Formats: sequence, C-alpha cells, structure tokens
Amino acid sequence: MIEFECSCAMGKHRAPLEGYEISSGALNKIPEILKDYNKIYVVADENTYRAAGKQVEEILKACGKHHRTLVLDGEVVLPNVETLGKIVLFANDPGAKPNFFAYSDLPDFILAVGSGTVNDSCRLASYRLQLPYGIVATAPSMDGYASSGTPFLHSGSKSTVQATTPKYVIGDLDILKDAPLQDDARGYRRYVR
Ligand SMILES: [Zn+2]
Repeated sequence: MIEFECSCAMGKHRAPLEGYEISSGALNKIPEILKDYNKIYVVADENTYRAAGKQVEEILKACGKHHRTLVLDGEVVLPNVETLGKIVLFANDPGAKPNFFAYSDLPDFILAVGSGTVNDSCRLASYRLQLPYGIVATAPSMDGYASSGTPFLHSGSKSTVQATTPKYVIGDLDILKDAPLQDDARGYRRYVR
C-alpha cells in the first residue's frame, strides 16, 4: 500500500500498489523490485515483446527468476475469452506429460509487458489464478495501469469486470519515449503498443 500527502482537499492518497519505478533504465531494477518472486511469467504481444519483453525476459533469465514467456499474436483490442484462456493455460507448460492439467508448476508472479489489452488481460488472469501481477508499461497513454476493474469482451458486448490491481508498475522512460503513435480507423491518434 502506497500512501502520500497531498495539498488537495483529500489531504492524503492511497493506492494498493507495493511499489512503482518510473525512470530511465527502470527495467534493470526488476530483479530488485521483484526480489520476493522466483518464477515469473512474462506476458507480452508481438509489439511489446519487441519493445521491452525480450529485454525483460533476458534480465529475468540472468537472475534465475524466469518461469516462461507468452507472446500473444495478432491484434487484440479488448481482453476476450481467447486471450484470457491463453494466458491462464500457458501459465503452465501445456506440452508437459502426462496430465495436461497436472503438468508443471504455476508461476508465482505474472509480469505483463504492454499497455491496454495485455495489462487488462493479465489483471483478469491474476484474479482467476490468484497470482500477484505487475506491469512493465510500454506506452505512456494508458490511464488504467493501476486500475482494479478491467473491460472484457464477450459475445460482442463489453463489460467491466472486477479484477486485481498490480503490485508493481514499472515504466522505463527509454521505452516509453519511443512508443509509436498512429492514426486509427476513426482518425484518432493512439499509441500502438
Ligand atoms: Zn490530491
């Protein structure tokens, strides 16, 4: 729980975060920030894996904390059944024998690398698997890094679902500053990772 004094009418603000690190080179602090965890499950999409995920994976491997990595393919605009299913399923090794669901150890931490969908999906997976999670931010635009609710797309409709908040938010300015902006189909400029 983070708490700080403020000059506004609230006087004090609280967030259920254990910590955050927003700085140049923040990725290098991951082993220290996540010192209490030893089997870290990295979840990214193709863009965010290129931008930061691969580097995160290497840092975790070097300190012996890497469990596995899932790189989601294709463009997922909102968390949906398929994305959530992949994250939950690949938390273990689905190829391990002989029992598909008794296969291998679960991770002890989920580390989302991304912004919108990856973060939202990992928040839901964290809630479902009862595993703590954190986020390595890849775009400065996302307003819900520390949110407790998540949008979910099911049968064509979008709803907001209660989930967990991240334990840690890690933002490396060297990565955030390079997030690419693009015009989407409706003409809005948005970060594409
Ligand atoms: Zn305030």
